[in-house]
Amino acid sequence: MNDRPNSSEAVLEELMAGNARYVDGSMQSSNPPAARDALASGQAPMAAMIRCADSRVAPEIVFDQPLGSLFVCGVAGNIPTPEIIASLEYAIAVLDTTLIVVMGHSSCGAVSAALEHRGDSNALPGGLPALVDQIIDPCTADADPSVPGVLDAAIACNARQGIGAIMEGSDLIAAAVEAGGVRIVAGVQDLASGHFHLLSDD
Ligand SMILES: [Zn+2]
Repeated sequence: MNDRPNSSEAVLEELMAGNARYVDGSMQSSNPPAARDALASGQAPMAAMIRCADSRVAPEIVFDQPLGSLFVCGVAGNIPTPEIIASLEYAIAVLDTTLIVVMGHSSCGAVSAALEHRGDSNALPGGLPALVDQIIDPCTADADPSVPGVLDAAIACNARQGIGAIMEGSDLIAAAVEAGGVRIVAGVQDLASGHFHLLSDD
């Protein structure tokens, strides 16, 4: 647990190396019974993540990391809700995690719904409009569904959008990022290949 990479750059490098192992089927991580004593005594996750609730998205598997390495927050559409942001603050302020990853994925149902119902989200059942509206407003309100790749573009937009939402929603995290000790990145997992594509910072 004490051998985690320290800098956000080193953490990101390990995540991408783990994803490469996942893509080609050479995973190394395991969770043997012998590791549980150390896990029970505390945690020092190297990265915090917002993942979609989608059953096909599992960061520990996709980045080939054992239990205790990733602090994972999940919600449909990987949206930084206030509770998710508070959870990330815990990772940054208490656990000294240095990297936050906003993790979108291909074929995301939440983003698809935001595209399909961009004009009538109230037609969605239950509490879904409140969730989907958070994707519609910045990413699909003006989208043209006839344009090829529009869903992938909206998925990337939504993941990128998460960075700004975290910075705006948390003075604590924004200060840590501005001080240089913490970095937030966004990316998209391609379900077919397994590859996690890192989006650029801009
Ligand atoms: Zn999804």
